[in-house]
Formats: sequence, structure tokens, C-alpha cells
Amino acid sequence: MKSSITQYANPYVLDLVAYQPGKPIEETARELGLAPGDIVKLASNENSLGPSPLAIKAMQDAASGVHIYPDGASYVLRSKLADRFGVDFVQTVVGSGSSEIIELLCHACLHEGIELVAAKHGFSMYPIMCKLFGARYVEVDNKPDWSHDLKGMLQAITPQTRLVFITNPTNPLGTMVYQEEMDSFMEQVPEHVIVAFDEAYIDFADVKPDTLKYVKQGKNVIILRTFSKAYGLAGLRAGYGITTPEIADLLNKARTPFNMNLMAQVATAAALDDDAHLAASVHMVNEGKKQFYSAFERWNIDYIPSHGNFILVKTGQGRNVFNACLAKGVILRHMDGYGLPDYIRITVGSKPENARCLAVLGEVLGVN
Ligand SMILES: *Cc1c(COP(=O)(O)O)cnc(C)c1O
Repeated sequence: MKSSITQYANPYVLDLVAYQPGKPIEETARELGLAPGDIVKLASNENSLGPSPLAIKAMQDAASGVHIYPDGASYVLRSKLADRFGVDFVQTVVGSGSSEIIELLCHACLHEGIELVAAKHGFSMYPIMCKLFGARYVEVDNKPDWSHDLKGMLQAITPQTRLVFITNPTNPLGTMVYQEEMDSFMEQVPEHVIVAFDEAYIDFADVKPDTLKYVKQGKNVIILRTFSKAYGLAGLRAGYGITTPEIADLLNKARTPFNMNLMAQVATAAALDDDAHLAASVHMVNEGKKQFYSAFERWNIDYIPSHGNFILVKTGQGRNVFNACLAKGVILRHMDGYGLPDYIRITVGSKPENARCLAVLGEVLGVN
């Protein structure tokens, strides 16, 4: 019998369960025999307003130049980020989504015998990347209100810990940690640990704790941001980090030469100038959250009030609810992979999308 190449693969890769993205619109439309326009996708925390018109224009202008490699240093975008945050150019890192920067961090810090500390029910890219590099993933229980237990996370740090993720607001729970707890954590965290503040949803939070001050104090921290959520550019794959020159240098060594493509560089630089679009996106989400909360309260079902652009709802039997909604053309996210089988996560979309979602969900749950 022919031997399988799989047996010769990296055992760390073999043991992984691949990241499960939200179900794509096109695939769902094909399976249901519907037009893509009839499907509502509220599964991946995307922005229903779409990209900024400035970003679209920048991409149209740049499109005829894609036969030339992009600027490997992403000079224009990184200069803009440095200005905006008041840091040096060498303190900025960009990548193909902040997922890539998470990967680079793991590349730079993790190997066998080393540990990463994160909160339970956290973003599923963390354990995947951690295990890929042979390190141990240490999960710390949340507080009863579902927010990170920073004291517990501090206690979980050992001499082998190199990386701690603080997701603020967190996904899929939607909770936050605030300044005082973070300051106290940062005062006590040992110097051999890099603290990564994953701020993918910070634009939606009405209180934004200051993590930039830790960077400016020269602490071993990195702030991770993405253009996939509030900026509506998920399809481009673009994210960035603000950190110390030392950490930026480590990440720079681990990356591929042109890790941010031309379209992503020009579109994100343009999108950073469109504050009105960002504000409109945040407004849409705030209005949408009210729409969902009032329905959930009417139906008497539990949800976690969210600081992001999504809501975790306790429907019971999340996978069944997901499948039933899917059959009616509404794509949500079940939370089996996050250890929350009784929940579904709903991205807050436009008013009509939210209404369609609530109509379908109400029918499925028998509460309408
Ligand atoms: C969406 C998300 C990211 C980043 O996504 P990219 O599209 O790779 O930039 C990072 N962290 C969390 C918690 C997220 O939910």
C-alpha cells in the first residue's frame, strides 16, 4: 500500500484543527438555490456599510500598477500610522490582516517548552498559532461577568511564558477590561513577557483604555489593530501593530518580503483619512445593537451586552439554531469551536439585515 505523506508532516500541524471561517455567501446561495443577494451574512463581524469611498478610489487609481511589486516597507501607510499614534516609523508593523501579525508574534516568541497565556473562549487564531509553533496554550477562566480576569492571567504567567493576549473588546464575548485593571496588570507583568493588546473592535467601544502609553513607556507590548471590522476592508486583508522598535524588528525578521499587497497599502492609507465613514459605521452598529437588545428582551433570552459589532446570544443548541437560520438564508455563527455550544454570535449589520435576521431567528426559536 502506498504510504501517506501525512505521516511525515510536522506533528504540530497534524494535530491542529483548521480555523473555521463564517460560511461564505456564494456557497450558501449555491446550496439553497438562491441568489447571493437573497442571503444575509451576519457571521464574521464584517461592516455592512462597505469600504470607504476614498479606499475604493485609491484602489481604482492603483489597479493598473499591480505588475510592480509593492513597497516592501509600506512607507506611506506606516508613516501615516506613526503620525497618528505619535510614535516613530520603526514602531509600526503592517500585515495581511492582524491575523498575520499574531502569526509573526508567535513566530518570534514561541517554540517547544514555551507558554502563551490567554482568556478562555478567546479568538480561535491564538491557540491555532500557538500550537503551530509547538508552544503550550494556557487558558484562564473569565470573571463571572465574562470579562478577562487579569489577576488570574497574571498568576498564570510562569518563567516559560513569553506572550499574553488581552483582547479588548474581546471576541466572541464582547466584554472589556478597563484602565485601572490594565495599569495594575502592566505594573506587575514580568519583563520576559510580551503583552499583545488585540484591539480589533476598539473603534466600537465607547470607553477606549489607553494602551499607547505602555508603548511610549517602552514596555514590552504591542497594540494590534485591523482594517477588517470598523473600516470595512476585510476582503483586502490588512492590519497593523504599534510597538517598541525592538519588537517591531523581531517581527520584521519573521515576515515575508511583501506581506502587505499594493491594494491593501493604498486603500488603508486612504481609509485612515475618512473619519466620517468610520463614525457612520460605529453609529450603524450602535443603532443595530438597540434593535437586537430590545427583541432579545421581549423574547426573554439571555445575551451578553457587547462592546463590539456583534452579540453573543444564548439560544440553546447553537449549532441547530445556526443550521435552521442558514436554511432560511441567514448566516450566523455557532460557537461549538469556542466551547459555547448554547450560544450563537450575531454580527450587527444594517437595519434591514438585522430585521431579517430577527424575523428568521424569531421563527426558528418559536418566539415571534
Ligand atoms: C477579526 C479579528 C482579528 C483580525 O482579523 P484580520 O481580518 O486578520 O485583521 C483579530 N483579533 C480578533 C479578536 C478578531 O476578532
